[in-house]
Amino acid sequence: MTEKRSFLVTTPIYYVNAEPHVGHAYTTIAADALTRARRLGGHDVFFVTGTDEHGQNIERIARERGIPEQQHCDEIAAVFRSLWERLDIRYDRFIRTTEEEHRRGVLKLWGLLVEAQTPDGQDAVYQGTYSGWYCPRCEGFKDEDELQQPDNVCPDHELPCEWTEEQNFFFRLSAYEEWLREQIESDRLLIRPESRKNEILGVIRQGLKDFSVSRARVKWGIPVPEEPDHVLYVWVDALSNYITALGFADDGENYRRFWCGAHERLHLIGKDIIRFHCLYWPAILHAAGLPVPTREFGQGFITKDGRKLSKTTGNVIDPAALAERLGPDAARYFLLREAPYGADWDFTDAAFVGRYNADLANDLGNLVSRALTMVSKFGDGKVPPRPASVSEARGLEEELQTDAPVAWPYAEGRRAAVLARYEAIDFSGALAEVWSWISQLNQRIVAVEPWTLARDPSRRDELDAFLYRLLEGVRLVAVLASPVMPRAAGRIDGMLGRADRAPGPDDLEWGRLEPGTSLGTVVPLFPRIEKKDKEKNVPETTPPAAVPSKPEEAPAPAAGPERIDIADFARLELRAAKVTAAEQVEGSKKLLKLQVDLGTETRQVVAGIAQTHAPEDVVGKTVVLVANLKPAKLMGVESNGMVLAGSVDGRAVLCQFEGEVAPGTRVR
Ligand SMILES: [Zn+2]
Repeated sequence: MTEKRSFLVTTPIYYVNAEPHVGHAYTTIAADALTRARRLGGHDVFFVTGTDEHGQNIERIARERGIPEQQHCDEIAAVFRSLWERLDIRYDRFIRTTEEEHRRGVLKLWGLLVEAQTPDGQDAVYQGTYSGWYCPRCEGFKDEDELQQPDNVCPDHELPCEWTEEQNFFFRLSAYEEWLREQIESDRLLIRPESRKNEILGVIRQGLKDFSVSRARVKWGIPVPEEPDHVLYVWVDALSNYITALGFADDGENYRRFWCGAHERLHLIGKDIIRFHCLYWPAILHAAGLPVPTREFGQGFITKDGRKLSKTTGNVIDPAALAERLGPDAARYFLLREAPYGADWDFTDAAFVGRYNADLANDLGNLVSRALTMVSKFGDGKVPPRPASVSEARGLEEELQTDAPVAWPYAEGRRAAVLARYEAIDFSGALAEVWSWISQLNQRIVAVEPWTLARDPSRRDELDAFLYRLLEGVRLVAVLASPVMPRAAGRIDGMLGRADRAPGPDDLEWGRLEPGTSLGTVVPLFPRIEKKDKEKNVPETTPPAAVPSKPEEAPAPAAGPERIDIADFARLELRAAKVTAAEQVEGSKKLLKLQVDLGTETRQVVAGIAQTHAPEDVVGKTVVLVANLKPAKLMGVESNGMVLAGSVDGRAVLCQFEGEVAPGTRVR
């Protein structure tokens, strides 16, 4: 066990000018998953999120709505909290900048800043005249070269900016250039991905300008004590949430433990706010004589169907709908698995459903249901005796070289690898590790053939040992996936006869399943989504084709084709086959060349389904194969079997199963 450490994990606080969008959900899910992963590793973690509620924008919106500012803030903050509830986000503190505790903390920080001296002996905060093009929507002054001409239009809001001059307070950022460069170059302030670090160093090279920290014309905020007509601007009011949330105002226990004494102070942020977090915020803290963040991670942007997300064009991903559609676990899994966390990526519905079916319904869902079903079928529905052998300690490499019948892909090194990936904020990599293990466990079932062991009473111990290890494998997979999929992990624990609780470091140890424990009921974790499910909502307007025109008429056996005996049918070997690869047969519009998994072997089959099915659509599907058909060549390609499909106007509609069926299962 590694030493116990204290970590702070934060999301930005979200501005209550609008309801949450998918970018908010993406960061908050990531922070939640990282928090859970660190707790799994035995560490102390404090997770802060919240809402930024002050400023001219909120004044305007509340005025337009005809309600007090506070009421507007309360309403939107409640929407955020309810979304986090639905996405199974478990934060430790939801900070709101309209809270009294926050106000007191901000004023304490301000007090330190007005007393502070820069390294070259000047006041860190000074009064000056600020003038420039001001966008009321941005609540900020824009650089002249950012504006669109004519009319000095804000590029973000497509509204003309106003030339504005005002007296306000400035923070002397220019005096901290050297210090910031040194912090960032040395990675004492670790900025990731690397490209963001380089971007920030580039900004420093161009020279840092002082920035204004108060506003004269805004009422909805925290008044500046020295100048009560001014309020503190967002850089002091909002960024400070990271410490006020911990009880900075009263030098509270959480502040001392998770800020001053923390092994890491991590901010997850969007790449658009990286400058404020990596330059303004550390400089403010340093000037005030307080510890600064140790790591900042800029997440990428999500587009949808190749286009920028935009409310005006309607190209949006509603995070609440995303959670509803296939459940919170599926939403969390997809967002964190589909792309590396720091990268920009494109969301498509097809990819969401595809991953759900392939990774969750097929790989994980099948593993769990096969393992539990075998224990109830070949055992008595209880956890088998713990194997006496020490072979479970074998590493994977050694394991692959042995021919022992129940050799085992054990987790040696694997859990460390998964936790290290989480720690590096590489969720996609952590999940890929877990899924490669799932796939090995599934292959193990096929290779060991427990159903064969079950037929031979003298191999009972071997069967029990296999089943115990399989269940332990399933349990550990659930534990390692639990930071991203807490709900599914809890349900798997329930099926394994264990209490539903947040897993801790003890659960990472091999052999925690108690022999003799009765397993719970097997419930489908992630029911497969078929294309037809998506069309279910379409009302049926045409009557079913099979309704006979003369229902009273008795069936006329002689009129149909000749009936066959059951023995004739038994000559056909129909099996469930999972398509593992597919490609178009060269020169043919109709034929696909498929590789199918029959549980015990892989076969090549040519199927006339290319006009209705793209190769990538059939991969992962479980189809019905006539397995004992004589080999044939179609367009010069060998085919070993035939895939069953309905023929509708000459087009093929694949025959598929309603529930989960393991490859190789006989169809009768
Ligand atoms: Zn603007």
